[in-house]
Amino acid sequence: MSIAIAIHGGAGTLARQQMTKARERVVRAGLETALDAGLAVLRDGGSALDAVVAAVIRLEDDPLFNAGCGAVFNEEGDIELEAAVMDGYTRAAGSVMGVSRTRNPVRLARAVMEDTPHVTLGFGAADAFAQRIGLPQAPPGYFHTETRWKELQDELERRRREAPTLTDAVIGQGRGTVGAVARDMNGRLASATSTGGRNGKMAGRVGDSAVIGAGTWADDAVAVSCTGHGEWFVRGGVAHEISARMRLAGQSLEDACDSVVLGLLPRIGGEDAAGGVIAVDARGNIAMPFNCEGMYRAAVDAEGARVVAIYRPA
Ligand code: ASP
Repeated sequence: MSIAIAIHGGAGTLARQQMTKARERVVRAGLETALDAGLAVLRDGGSALDAVVAAVIRLEDDPLFNAGCGAVFNEEGDIELEAAVMDGYTRAAGSVMGVSRTRNPVRLARAVMEDTPHVTLGFGAADAFAQRIGLPQAPPGYFHTETRWKELQDELERRRREAPTLTDAVIGQGRGTVGAVARDMNGRLASATSTGGRNGKMAGRVGDSAVIGAGTWADDAVAVSCTGHGEWFVRGGVAHEISARMRLAGQSLEDACDSVVLGLLPRIGGEDAAGGVIAVDARGNIAMPFNCEGMYRAAVDAEGARVVAIYRPA
């Protein structure tokens, strides 16, 4: 049976006119590397779960993307990472929130799923668990990138100038997330998502990525990973809503994804509910809609068609 995989590097892309050829090349290369890592697992007969974790580890290790090394800072200048995995066949799920020392939060989310009786662990206790089971911890400064630090300073400066409301402050400017969905040779589906959250978020803020059913979901019909303004993805229960529309309303993968990303999200949140999803169904169809300017994304569908893209085709 045919394999399929899709990945995203976040809907927080640079505006088209700010994107240089050189930057586009490195972003595309980063996406290709992650896609190939997941694809290699699937081609070797590996599970969808192994494939999405392999792809997301590559994206977490790449400082270009807002996850792992390259994550944005909260308003206190600290890193608080979130990640989730879900295995559609078993409905096993694991997620972590507020992680600040573990190098690959997606591996920790998987360990929560496999090695604890729980679904979600948070903050210091999650890092302590990672350390206890021997997951690599990040040396001091590992998560600090100059680009993200500058984004935080710019955001804090903007807030000082514009005296924003609390709502504006929480929203911040920086975005992005990484994720992967896959279908393996046995027709099983899985998804994984990992993020630094929103630039300048309040300390302790948790978005959608690690909330099962909001930013991450997988069952036997569909696997979904989201990116975008997390508060709206939580309010819309977006990842699970896509599954519900397929199961209960008989929508195709494409219709379910479009109706949520282009219909539900703008309806409840207007332009503020910006973002997109990647999703794969049991036949290996892939959908990657977004309602904003761009979404870093790449996929190989069940027919073997390969796409790497940032914006809508011109
Ligand atoms: N969904 C992420 C969050 O709100 C950020 C993003 O994807 O832009 O935490």
